[in-house]
Amino acid sequence: MYCPFCSHIEDKVIDSRLSKEGDVIRRRRECFNCKQRFTTYERVGEIFPMVIKKDGRRERFNREKIFNGMKRACEKRPVSIDVLETVVGDIEKKIQEIGESEIPSHIIGKELMNQLQKLDHVAYVRFASVYKEFKDISEFMSEIKSLAPQSVVSYEQNPSKTIDGVPL
Ligand SMILES: [Zn+2]
Repeated sequence: MYCPFCSHIEDKVIDSRLSKEGDVIRRRRECFNCKQRFTTYERVGEIFPMVIKKDGRRERFNREKIFNGMKRACEKRPVSIDVLETVVGDIEKKIQEIGESEIPSHIIGKELMNQLQKLDHVAYVRFASVYKEFKDISEFMSEIKSLAPQSVVSYEQNPSKTIDGVPL
């Protein structure tokens, strides 16, 4: 997106809002170069794939949902709203880059967990506990154990595992 003021190509999204009808996203952007702010409008159907839920139903990609989930997970953690905005922006970008018209919701969940894991381990465990719907405490504990340095390393050593180009 070229800045309308200085034609610089890089900007950051500082706010995104879905229209009441749910078909247009209004984005407030700030140019990295001149710091001027401008607004862009994007049609949802053209940008984001539909999300296939576990039960097979489709729903629109919902940025709010992801943002609120992450915000809840990061409550009282040293993670700023600014950082969350950036991370959610990254997730959106990844999802767009998959280039499919439909993607399973677990791909988004996986991406969210990857991002949280890098961001804050407490927030990650909180989110994971809800996301994975742990059936018992030992499952939860093994998740906490898996945050030990060794397993983080083994995760990083195996980045080649992907589904449609998305790292697992
Ligand atoms: Zn500019």
